[in-house]
Amino acid sequence: MDFSLSDDQKAFVSTARAFSRDTLAPGAAQWDEEHRFPVDVFKEAGDLGLMSLYAPEEIGGMNLPRLDASLIFEELAYGCTATTAFMTIHNMATNMVGRYGSETLLEQWGENLASGQKLASYCLTEPGSGSDAASLVTCAKQDADHYIVHGSKVFISGAGATDILVVMVRTGGPGAKGVTALAIPAESDGIHYGKSETKMGWNCQPTRQVTFDGVRVPVSYRLGDEGQGFNMAMEALDGGRINIASCSVGTAQAALDHAIAYSKEREQFGQAIADFQVTQFKLADMVTELVAARQMVRLAAWKLDHNEPEAGIYCSMAKRLATDLCFNICNEALQIHGGYGYIREYPLERFVRDTRVHQILEGTNEIMRMIIGRRLLMDNVPEVIR
Ligand SMILES: Cc1cc2nc3c(=O)[nH]c(=O)nc-3n(C[C@H](O)[C@H](O)[C@H](O)COP(=O)(O)OP(=O)(O)OC[C@H]3O[C@@H](n4cnc5c(N)ncnc54)[C@H](O)[C@@H]3O)c2cc1C
Repeated sequence: MDFSLSDDQKAFVSTARAFSRDTLAPGAAQWDEEHRFPVDVFKEAGDLGLMSLYAPEEIGGMNLPRLDASLIFEELAYGCTATTAFMTIHNMATNMVGRYGSETLLEQWGENLASGQKLASYCLTEPGSGSDAASLVTCAKQDADHYIVHGSKVFISGAGATDILVVMVRTGGPGAKGVTALAIPAESDGIHYGKSETKMGWNCQPTRQVTFDGVRVPVSYRLGDEGQGFNMAMEALDGGRINIASCSVGTAQAALDHAIAYSKEREQFGQAIADFQVTQFKLADMVTELVAARQMVRLAAWKLDHNEPEAGIYCSMAKRLATDLCFNICNEALQIHGGYGYIREYPLERFVRDTRVHQILEGTNEIMRMIIGRRLLMDNVPEVIR
């Protein structure tokens, strides 16, 4: 068992760290304040391969293991949580297109998505179907060489500012087996975008409802076969959970670093607040939990890379643990800053606002517990979960 990073991994981390410090961190507060989706930054990130980290090489992707992608997302999130979170969603959708798209789709979209010149959204959630995603009702009926799509998706990250939507639709009967994935160009006739939701965090990316009113989609824009869409969407979410957990870990590291620095500078009662044992104990717990979260995320990513049979359970455990622990770390770091933690001059309140949603999306943390609990109670719980 070797926990050290390889030379390649160190090089990826170093590139991501430079981009994070030089490009993401300086813009993060302003993008949040102005609710600006930094499309130019995604293009720059694309030039470094960051928009298609694990997408196949055929479309220009880096085809990296999920563990390496996790290391990179962690570094990026250190600089800007919400921008990186959108990059993870784009990576997830681009990977689905790259792995399951037809030749026609790949020719028309593959390289543009991999390079970040065009952006993608992932559309699963509907007004009546959130955690119970298999109950989705957006439908697609085939008409010769097109599908005609009707229905609505909600909470779609990037919607209105992205170029293609990876949409899970119903082409068959009820339940997971009736779901198919389609790639739908974002400006197709019949697509309507709702208002940009007013949110607690993730303000640098729009979140919108998307309505499909008789949208015609070429059959060649289907991903995989009919009926495979739900499995694809869930497979994507296993990795998505690692990604979002990595964003939490990177942000919590930034929060901890700020808390350490501030506690040494700030004096009360004639001494640095770092000299109070309560501060030291807080920092000790924060770093312990941060390292535990990081290692859990890396273990789950490693299992996914090695196609371990219980990798999905590890992804759920890692997502639940890391997003809960890291949200608490950001909140404790805010507390160490006292009143200054609560005002926008410092980034702590943004860290708290941005990491809160990680406990909700890519499957809520209650759903993570449900997945883990159900597996544990099956008859054939294998050794690997013990
Ligand atoms: C900012 C933001 C961005 C998002 N981006 C995207 C995106 O890009 N694409 C996309 O498809 N979706 C996106 N989502 C949607 C997100 O994935 C859903 O909000 C999430 O899956 C929860 O669904 P819901 O909101 O309908 O909550 P519900 O499913 O209605 O859940 C409500 C509460 O009930 C609990 N609950 C539900 N079922 C159970 C159960 N069986 N056992 C115990 N508790 C349960 C939940 O944990 C939650 O606490 C985004 C959401 C937000 C807030």
